[in-house]
Amino acid sequence: MTSLINTSRPPVFCPGCSHERITLALDKTFQNMNIAGHEIALVSDIGCSGLFDTFFNTHAFHGLHGRALTYAAGIKMSRPGLHVIVTMGDGGLGIGGAHLLSACRRNLNMTLLILNNFNFGMTGGQFSATTPPEASVGSGFLNQLERPLDACQVASAAGAAFVARASSYQKDLVDLLEQAIRFDGFSIVDMWGVCPGRYTKKNKITPASIGESLAGLSPMTGVVEANIRPEYGTQYRELSSALKPANTPKGVAVNFKPLFSNRREVILLGSAGQRIITAGEIICLAGMSAGLNATQKNEYNITVLRGPSISDLVLSSDPIGYTGIEHPSVVVAIAQEGIDRRKGLFAKLGPESMILAVKGLVLPDSRARVHEIDMKALGLKSQDYAMAAVSILAGMNLILNADMLKQALEYRFRGSALEASLTVMNQCLTTS
Ligand code: SF4
Repeated sequence: MTSLINTSRPPVFCPGCSHERITLALDKTFQNMNIAGHEIALVSDIGCSGLFDTFFNTHAFHGLHGRALTYAAGIKMSRPGLHVIVTMGDGGLGIGGAHLLSACRRNLNMTLLILNNFNFGMTGGQFSATTPPEASVGSGFLNQLERPLDACQVASAAGAAFVARASSYQKDLVDLLEQAIRFDGFSIVDMWGVCPGRYTKKNKITPASIGESLAGLSPMTGVVEANIRPEYGTQYRELSSALKPANTPKGVAVNFKPLFSNRREVILLGSAGQRIITAGEIICLAGMSAGLNATQKNEYNITVLRGPSISDLVLSSDPIGYTGIEHPSVVVAIAQEGIDRRKGLFAKLGPESMILAVKGLVLPDSRARVHEIDMKALGLKSQDYAMAAVSILAGMNLILNADMLKQALEYRFRGSALEASLTVMNQCLTTS
């Protein structure tokens, strides 16, 4: 097998950087394993180790700092036949620590290569999760206050079944990398190296001293017998294959012509418990039954059953790129809390807009037409005001009509909920 090094963009590191040795060792490993570029996905983190994906002719993914394991997990789950290899520095290791724990607990068949040179090399030599307290780094004294992370101990404790400490300079590195990649589960190789561009400018560290330091630690040489268990992806596929297939999402049948040619915006202003969000959903479903695009953006307090409840709706024959409301053609005002929450909106309304308001509410000044509805005279309860207002709009052929509303209700509700909503609809369609 020939080298997978990308000759049009070969590795470039500071002179003497141990990353270069690892790049070449990884390439040699691929050759020894006789695997081709299209069988490998290299997922790189951020930093100097984050350049690895560009140095090889393989599939590649380069994402956010500390998150490489999450992308790798998705890639491996969707393409289990790929060899998925993550390159991450000690910076990404600290930033994405929780993802490391999840990967160890999960045991998905992929390999994490930690290129551990004890500092954030690319950004100026700041301390990282593995910087020794006695080191002199570019971020002052902070490393003196923290214990360095022993990634291998943590990974082993979290359930990783293949954990190896290594020197970037050890002779059998290629063999170790092959063992890790061949391991049927999550494997980690924590490779210690030097960063002449930053770290070794202020700290004495050599291949020999790395070897001595590693020899002083508890050995981690690969398989962790106590953590051996079935591989996650295989188990996942076995268990999921026994599940009933998910139902095909129910589509909205397009049976009507839209009542307008371009875009309409609607705002429902109510309070918690008035089914504002559901009413907004019904208007969207009605619009979709006429082939329109529809968006709904809701606002409500995190508290339950109190505070304003507001729904911003856009219906348009064109794609909707942004869900924000700019020029509402209809404002449905059914509770004072909702009105007060959006009081700044009213001054912007022109005479082309209509406010459908429950009688008795105090509206801020505007130039819009106001259409008042006496909900109490209709004998309706507060929780039905929003549905009643939608029905009144349908009766006026504004935004939606009766047929569109009926289809939307039949799509959205079943049983007694459908009966109740149809009753409100029939009562209010002729109210204007
Ligand atoms: S800054 Fe350090 S890690 Fe980055 S290329 Fe230079 S020597 Fe290597």
